Amino acid sequence: MIITGIQPTGNLHIGNYLGAIKPLIALQQNDEDTYAFIADYHAITANFDPASFSQVSRDLVAMILACDFDTERGSIFLQSDVPEHTEMAHILGCTAARVGQLNRMIQFKEKMAALAENEETPSVGLYTYPVLQAADVLLYQDAENGTPTKVPVGDDQSQHLNLVVDIAASFNHRFGDTFILPKPVISTAPRIMSLFDGTKKMSKSDPDDMNRINMSDPADRIVKKFRKATTDQHMICGTVEEIGDRVCLRNLLTIYAAFADMTLDEAVAHFAGKGFGALKGELADIVVATLEPIQARYLDIRERKQAMSQMLGRGAMGASIMASDTLHRVRKAIGIADRNGLGEDEV
Ligand code: ATP
Ligand code: MG
Repeated sequence: MIITGIQPTGNLHIGNYLGAIKPLIALQQNDEDTYAFIADYHAITANFDPASFSQVSRDLVAMILACDFDTERGSIFLQSDVPEHTEMAHILGCTAARVGQLNRMIQFKEKMAALAENEETPSVGLYTYPVLQAADVLLYQDAENGTPTKVPVGDDQSQHLNLVVDIAASFNHRFGDTFILPKPVISTAPRIMSLFDGTKKMSKSDPDDMNRINMSDPADRIVKKFRKATTDQHMICGTVEEIGDRVCLRNLLTIYAAFADMTLDEAVAHFAGKGFGALKGELADIVVATLEPIQARYLDIRERKQAMSQMLGRGAMGASIMASDTLHRVRKAIGIADRNGLGEDEV
């Protein structure tokens, strides 16, 4: 079983595609039962626009489907349609997660620092975000077969995923074996960096759209964004080692290699001795060629609103069956009675 979530914080970009969506579709080929959710309750931990929020979520669903997510082998649903996620988060926050652990989370520190620049303070939800993430993962348990649930994520999420495993282990330690410890599957795809700052990850929530290539960007915008991407004044080197701290060059070559299905070595060899102009030109061509068919499917799916609502409804229903079963066992483990004050055994 696979569980994965993606936040409706903006447009899906090529980093999300390479780091999360593509590996997910590949994992799905091996007959896995996949639960993919739109993490809307995560997205509200930061600033969001209520007027467009629902549309952003739906666009995200349409894009995931356009990238060939197989709804026969898995379901897509909105996190907020399955209330067990927040209920489980509260239980884990009280029984198994500790403030000291959350204080160590790098993502929180980074996001808090970014807010501080505008004299803003983080929401409590941003701080407890990893606990909700633990709930998201731990609700989906293959209790029948006892096999660990796989959680495919980009490497920026590995600290949070390790915390999920720790939370599950400490719950089990205190209340008896309840959770099968999940298995983080950290994407081997490299982290894609911002087009302007090679030390900063490409992000949906980055206020400057020029920092990323969105999956829905038209061809001329993709060309323009690559043309304006930061470079240096040297030619492209001959080996990966020689890239050194030329972080912007590394990022562009990394993106090219991923889209061309090459290793970084092969990509470097391909461009050795050439200038940035050649790299940027070929890069735009290959990214546009890959995205165009996905975009055509996306526009088509996006129009079929009723079909999408029905599919999300089915997805939430399927997810609820598994989530409520796990939550029931968790409530029982901590001694909280089920509906009507009766435990299952007394009903
Ligand atoms: P936000 O800025 O709102 O956090 P995000 O771009 O980081 O957005 P998420 O929804 O947090 O996107 O993450 C979705 C998935 O995409 C996760 O599995 C994450 O690891 C992966 N991912 C996000 N950014 C990148 C990136 N730049 N390179 C590779 N993978 C990424
Ligand atoms: Mg993120």
